[in-house]
Amino acid sequence: METGKRVTGAIPVSRKSWNSSPAAIPFQGRMKRQELAGLILTVHAALACSSGDGGSALPPPGCEAFSFERCNVLDEDCQRDVFGAVACLRDQDPGPLPEIRTISRADVQPLFEEMATEELAESPQDPDVTRAAELLGLVPPGGLEPAAISEAQATLVAGFFDTDSGAITLVAENARRDGAVGLLAHEFVHVLQDRRHDLSAVPPDDASTDTNLGASGLVEGEASLYSTLWEVSNLGRTPSDVAWPRLFANSTADADLFMQESESPLLDAFLSFPYTYGFRFVHATWETTGQEGIDARYADMPSTLEILHGRASMVSALPTPEPATGYELIGVDELGAQLTALFASKNRVGPSARELTSAWRADWLWIFGATDSDDTLVIWRILLDDFSAEALTEDVNDRASPTGASWMARLAPSPDLGLSAVIVVGSDPAAVSTAVSSFADSTNGQNGGPSGSSREAPPLSIGHRLGSGCLVH
Ligand SMILES: [Zn+2]
Repeated sequence: METGKRVTGAIPVSRKSWNSSPAAIPFQGRMKRQELAGLILTVHAALACSSGDGGSALPPPGCEAFSFERCNVLDEDCQRDVFGAVACLRDQDPGPLPEIRTISRADVQPLFEEMATEELAESPQDPDVTRAAELLGLVPPGGLEPAAISEAQATLVAGFFDTDSGAITLVAENARRDGAVGLLAHEFVHVLQDRRHDLSAVPPDDASTDTNLGASGLVEGEASLYSTLWEVSNLGRTPSDVAWPRLFANSTADADLFMQESESPLLDAFLSFPYTYGFRFVHATWETTGQEGIDARYADMPSTLEILHGRASMVSALPTPEPATGYELIGVDELGAQLTALFASKNRVGPSARELTSAWRADWLWIFGATDSDDTLVIWRILLDDFSAEALTEDVNDRASPTGASWMARLAPSPDLGLSAVIVVGSDPAAVSTAVSSFADSTNGQNGGPSGSSREAPPLSIGHRLGSGCLVH
């Protein structure tokens, strides 16, 4: 498939109180969208020892030839210094300085909408896939339209990198702020990633939603790591001066609140998880295996389970279950640990998000479309620990879906896989009821059902246009 325009970028650094006092870390109460900016901490708030301001810049060993001083990011000498410094941190020959443009804040949303519309035209999303995300409560109705996506992104994005043109674009208003150099450093990391790994192919086009979000965690986490390391050197400190556990505890707690209270958890997961949990994951990888270890993950992208809990997810193919008559298979997705937990918190079912991300082992989300109407049916099998599978199933059957969808759930034990919760969600109650009954008869085998078909389900992703390869941050 033709790869679309791919853009990665940064959330603004150094807004509100992050760069003042560690005690002022603001994550009590509800986060507003604008406050997400604070998720990307400046390291000022996380320096373990606050005596003095650190004095002048302190390049790390091996990068003494580069300046780590603050400068005007619109000045070409400054751009060269920062690009060279970031490339040195990443142990890479930088190559030529990329083009750097600016755009006014007001022009960001229309540009993103235009690009998202173009991308949608190039690789159209089946309406049943969009409808599935809505039925699950992961986006509000219309939440995956280019206008809605670009609006969510435009309020947060301070700069971005476009792999088609190879150029960086900075939001002009942010280019004059204190954190502008950190922002530029972040975008330079994307340029360097692209030169080494070809970001237009990260993740592959057939990747699941979980892989899209995990890949975004890798790409954004790495950019966040190196822009932070640039800041650390600029402050005359070393990485060992940073209270990393506190930095990550605060930023991931903020991200949790932001995602769980979101009206559009799918979009907001892509806007916060990569910069917080992804950053924590890449930092841990860097500490143990260095840049080589980070590079290796581009060929072996982490799942959200691994980013959250450090364990690889279980990979297994299951036969496709047969839906109610009159439906055809669109494809299969995997939502992963993070989005499964957000489904549960958004719909107020099952154990806490934290418990669910730990309990998650694998999931298969089959999407079907009615052949003679616009009805959509979702059969979602989630492999969990016994307690979570039972709690989730019970809650779904006890409560009405907040989205107005029809839903039912069954437990599906399997000698090989353990216990799954199977949640059937659809716009037509009769089809939901039929699909869930056929599944109920099949609980002895590990297959999708007694009438489960061995045909392969085409891979798809409800978050396809939201990952690092799309117009999202
Ligand atoms: Zn970025």
